[in-house]
Amino acid sequence: MRTRTALFLLVTLWTPTATGQPSSTITVGLEDFEKAQRIRCQAATGAFEWITVENGQLRAVGALEGIQEIAKTDVGYTVTTKTDEMQASYIILKPAESHDIIRLISDPTGYRQYTGAVHFYWHANQWHIALEADLEDYVAGVLVSEVGKGQAKALYTAHALVSRTYALNNAERHRLTGYDVCDQVHCQAFDGVSTVDDAIRMGCRASKHMVLVDRLGRPIPAAFHSNCGGTTRSSARVWQKASPHLLPVQDSACSFGEHAQWERQILRKDWNIWQKDQSVDLDNKTLVRAKLGLPSDRFDVGDAGDALILSGRGFGHGVGLCQEGAMERAKKGASPWAILDTYYQEIWLRHLSQITAPRAPGVSSK
Ligand SMILES: [Zn+2]
Ligand SMILES: [Zn+2]
Repeated sequence: MRTRTALFLLVTLWTPTATGQPSSTITVGLEDFEKAQRIRCQAATGAFEWITVENGQLRAVGALEGIQEIAKTDVGYTVTTKTDEMQASYIILKPAESHDIIRLISDPTGYRQYTGAVHFYWHANQWHIALEADLEDYVAGVLVSEVGKGQAKALYTAHALVSRTYALNNAERHRLTGYDVCDQVHCQAFDGVSTVDDAIRMGCRASKHMVLVDRLGRPIPAAFHSNCGGTTRSSARVWQKASPHLLPVQDSACSFGEHAQWERQILRKDWNIWQKDQSVDLDNKTLVRAKLGLPSDRFDVGDAGDALILSGRGFGHGVGLCQEGAMERAKKGASPWAILDTYYQEIWLRHLSQITAPRAPGVSSK
């Protein structure tokens, strides 16, 4: 008989819409903070209050005043406020306004700032921390980590579409632990909103709530990578999963990018031992790349006596949008749509409220 693993449903504060359509909030696992024994919390702007959750019922238990600490217990968390000490398996730090900024501080992560509600909960013998954030705030934070500052507005607008779509397409990835996406490169790197600047904010705003969809209105798997090395890869080749949106594209725009070329030297004796141990087919460069942790699967092998020289092009899996190519195109005046149309096939633009729901709605407290 088959057993099903129960999903953990976050008690979300602002989702979903009554129609079950995807909302404009997202839940993000803060995995660096999940490892910390204790976290100091402080309102950077606005006001926050502590809420406990028992059997789906929310109970306000005090305001966050100054810097207060939340610490792990055997089966949850404990918070000491001015008037009380509370222990619970599920505690929320709720902002008065959804854009109020919370500062979290821990070793060794340091401090990061977020907008939205922070959920601390114990589930399946693990401590979890999830941020319930406005989707647009999340996307702007992702752009800081995934694109960086000082880029053309068209690149930010295009990449905001990619990152928003990617998040919605992958929103089932962490359902077992209760959130949509994690804050690591496994999903998209997200270190909060403290370094989001006006250029990133304006670039995001130009494609606010818009999503790249397929013919049926579903968010596409909007993969991206650093530098394709001259031609992007098909998802069929790299992941053995065909997608009509992720086909090879010739790209010369990235040829002078920071990650256009690389070189690795491997001693011939190490190579021989490795090849024998792993019994790897050297013609399968995707596999060789994965096994050796190479920057890309586009490389030639040269002979240098005792050593072999691997001379490669590009960085990353090579599927979907090539960031350094997109960067160059934006710099030369390409529009966001022209950039996206270059790297993805069979795509349409649709407002978030009109896409085919990519995820099951959470449990609303309302
Ligand atoms: Zn993830
Ligand atoms: Zn490229």
